[in-house]
Amino acid sequence: REFYEKDCPLDVLDGKTAVFVGYGNQGRAQALNLRDTIESSKFSTPPKIVVANENDRYAAQAEKDGFGYTSDWAAAAAQADILFLLVPDHVQASLFKDKIAATLKKTCCIVVASGYNVYYGYLDVAPTNDIVMVAPRMIGAEVRSNFVGDSDLSCFVSVEQDSTGQAGDIALALCKGIGFTQKRVVKSTAYHETLLDLFNEQALWSSVLAMYRVGYLILKDMGLSDEELVHEMWLSKEPAKVMEHMADDGFIGQLRLHSLVSQYGQLSGSLELDTTQMRQVFQQKADRIKNGTFAEEFKKLEQGGAGVQHTVNELRKQTEQWDLVKGEHKVRDHLGLKTL
Ligand code: NDP
Repeated sequence: REFYEKDCPLDVLDGKTAVFVGYGNQGRAQALNLRDTIESSKFSTPPKIVVANENDRYAAQAEKDGFGYTSDWAAAAAQADILFLLVPDHVQASLFKDKIAATLKKTCCIVVASGYNVYYGYLDVAPTNDIVMVAPRMIGAEVRSNFVGDSDLSCFVSVEQDSTGQAGDIALALCKGIGFTQKRVVKSTAYHETLLDLFNEQALWSSVLAMYRVGYLILKDMGLSDEELVHEMWLSKEPAKVMEHMADDGFIGQLRLHSLVSQYGQLSGSLELDTTQMRQVFQQKADRIKNGTFAEEFKKLEQGGAGVQHTVNELRKQTEQWDLVKGEHKVRDHLGLKTL
């Protein structure tokens, strides 16, 4: 089922205090959007927004944006009617347990932007609290820029624990407040969102990276320059535009915008590819996500392991050996383009 603006009245937010725990990618964008909605809507007592963060660059940004901030987690939690848990997934559970849970109001509604910690049962939430998921289908910067510009925001919503009887209304009001009813709000669950999100990352996108790596190698060996390869394969943004047309004109429908040579090559190539092994590998990945094996492996990186950030840095270092990455560095340096 889908929800639209008319399904999401804001009144349930009247007089409530929303605390944003974390002011990063999603925290900043969602807090700014919600504030704009509050300011342009009628309330008898407008909802209040509080940002909770350590005193660092994120807090400085919150001050610059006119929110101020508090580093007193216990005090922030104590005043929250709605608590957005917008810190990285791998730190949510310990932060909640160590700094937030003790002073949290019994009826506070906890809002997560991904199903991860809820599905795996890592969040130790009291049975009196509500838990809802408002999970953007968009990176944080775009959650803000689309709100003020293109109106292309959508999200998944679910009620994971409803003790007050208000959780569903609060979730939908937040969807509207943050701007997700501009496009569509899709009913989901923490389980579905987690499986979908992690499967996309671990099966689909990891394959895309590997396919590009192999494609680059083959064509480089056949005499193509780094400039030609980088431009054609992603710098031109042609693949990004194709993805946009998949959304606008249909996954296969958009092929009509390509030449017949291209259509024939893409269709015959994908139809003749033996996907038996791919299906097996992808199924194993999906099973590992569903049964929690991946989540436990990921958890161990932080608890007694090398740490998530360190491990990711090491993996990134390995990609520095790829011809594709070396080639791209040369091209970007030459063009004066920054690399994140
Ligand atoms: P960020 O990495 O941008 O979060 C940074 C914020 O988290 C900062 O405020 C930072 O403050 C705080 N933080 C980090 N570690 C800690 C800690 N140990 N204790 C206290 N605060 C901490 O997160 P995202 O916005 O990317 O992700 C937030 C949620 O949104 C996640 O559940 C994610 O899955 C979800 N989401 C993210 C999307 C995205 O595109 N990024 C898309 C859809 C959902 P400090 O400097 O003080 O540590």
